[in-house]
Amino acid sequence: GNFIPPIKSNGGNTGNVTTRVAGKSDDASDDSAKRCLEMLCGPDGELPEKLRNLEPRLIEHISNEIMDRDPNVRWDDIAGLDHAKKCVTEMVIWPLLRPDIFKGCRSPGRGLLLFGPPGTGKTMIGKAIAGEAKATFFYISASSLTSKWIGEGEKLVRALFGVASCRQPAVIFVDEIDSLLSQRKSEGEHESSRRLKTQFLIEMEGFDSGSEQILLIGATNRPQELDEAARRRLTKRLYIPLPSLEARAWIVRNLLDKDGLFKLSKDEIDTICSLTEGYSGSDMKNLVKDASMGPLREALKQGIEITKLKKEDMRSVTLQDFEDALQEVRPSVSSNELGTYDEWNKQFGSLS
Ligand code: ADP
Repeated sequence: GNFIPPIKSNGGNTGNVTTRVAGKSDDASDDSAKRCLEMLCGPDGELPEKLRNLEPRLIEHISNEIMDRDPNVRWDDIAGLDHAKKCVTEMVIWPLLRPDIFKGCRSPGRGLLLFGPPGTGKTMIGKAIAGEAKATFFYISASSLTSKWIGEGEKLVRALFGVASCRQPAVIFVDEIDSLLSQRKSEGEHESSRRLKTQFLIEMEGFDSGSEQILLIGATNRPQELDEAARRRLTKRLYIPLPSLEARAWIVRNLLDKDGLFKLSKDEIDTICSLTEGYSGSDMKNLVKDASMGPLREALKQGIEITKLKKEDMRSVTLQDFEDALQEVRPSVSSNELGTYDEWNKQFGSLS
């Protein structure tokens, strides 16, 4: 739904594309595929070489579902994670903004791994990178490649990298990358997932050696499952930990503030933060959601009908609402898991 045509269609100058798709029946999906292809044409009205042998419906899927021209996240939306922000700015954003300076010795790595517990802001960082570097953002979940695109994953991967190379600078974000580049060689490993993995590594190799402005970001909650080939290609590996006390306070304040509901004192915020040790960013978001239901529930309990309820009838969110919500929203990450991340970070992470 967020798709905004990146290049204006070239009016009548798209003869080649029209002929290429015109042979098919004239239904809406063909029209949509045709429009996507037209938008990827160069100024000469020709489809770039890399896209010529790809199926229009796959290009359409990439353009409409996976590509996001305006990810709408900025660094300021992300609480804490100063170390990751600093590394990423240097490694990714500056090179995307100034490719002329970042070449030779300074040429950047093309693969970045963000690892850590779920719900800590990895996807947000990917989007912020694209937003800050004015790059096109492509988001794909690796597990959808293996589950939803059975037998077609390879083709989709080819189309993904093909479209990204026409939309440079581009950031390709692969969520749950472990399910694609896992080291498990189980007997059950299907031939098709092996081929998919090979195709993916080939594509990465392709842009790694070239001068293309494409960055691949892999995100995982299970870094220990990545094999050596994946680690080699994802040269920078950043640990995205659970939010600190200050970051948790920031999330609570920011979310309530957005809705004009923030009325808590500093001491109350401190209490909430000390009670939420071990909560992820997304756990905090769920906690705030649940707590902010408190005033609504209370107003309804007093007999006010939901259809007649005015905003003024509701009191502000209190510490007690958070204490109640803490009974409902529990931390989603166990301390055992945290130990595994620390170990992996010590062994393979980029510590500075
Ligand atoms: P991940 O990709 O690490 O699983 P996400 O980036 O998708 O997690 O985060 C899920 C949600 O949790 C976000 O949409 C945001 O609301 C909240 N969140 C997580 N981490 C942070 C953070 N550091 N700052 C602000 N919000 C966060």
